[in-house]
Amino acid sequence: MDRVINKTKLSLLQGDITRQSTDAIVNAANSSLMGGGGVDGAIHRAGGPAILEECKQIVSRIGRLPTGEAVITTGGNLKARHVIHTVGPVWHGGHSGEPELLASAYRQSLRVAMERGLKSVSFPSISTGAFGYPARLAATVALETVIAFLHQEESLEEVVFVLFDDATYQTYAQALEGLLPNTG
Ligand code: ADP
Repeated sequence: MDRVINKTKLSLLQGDITRQSTDAIVNAANSSLMGGGGVDGAIHRAGGPAILEECKQIVSRIGRLPTGEAVITTGGNLKARHVIHTVGPVWHGGHSGEPELLASAYRQSLRVAMERGLKSVSFPSISTGAFGYPARLAATVALETVIAFLHQEESLEEVVFVLFDDATYQTYAQALEGLLPNTG
């Protein structure tokens, strides 16, 4: 499923983000940047030790990465030349600033990509795995945030959401159809 926003193609697909060949893939990391389970583990396994090496250097420089912020490293052995590591919020019921922090994670990731002059970025569904953010709510925040960003900035050519399982893909597809109906 795709839409054009301003000059950027926004696509949803079901699959494994570690196989994407966009200029960068985004990692749903945790503040330690030391790897973990879920998509974080998959990215470090597929990309090899060069990614963790750079993460360690970043942490020694700036400390733990705050929720809602993003940093960039090499993609190591991945097809994507870069990994943008961001930290989404842990879901605590929705009244602890979760939507704002999730929006910030997407916005800061896009900003880092733009600052590096990258043209294409892939996102996973940040926070909806171990961090427990309800997928339907997260999908709306994710898509609204990316769409708003692309209305303001036109240097990116493609933004892709790579949803791991069919249920998450369907959730994002419904949310996108609600936000930008396909009028043919
Ligand atoms: P978080 O801690 O931010 O919740 P998780 O990695 O636990 O991050 O889950 C975020 C989403 O990433 C979930 O929908 C999960 O199914 C998905 N995911 C796991 N592995 C991959 C992968 N290889 N490619 C894309 N998405 C993945």
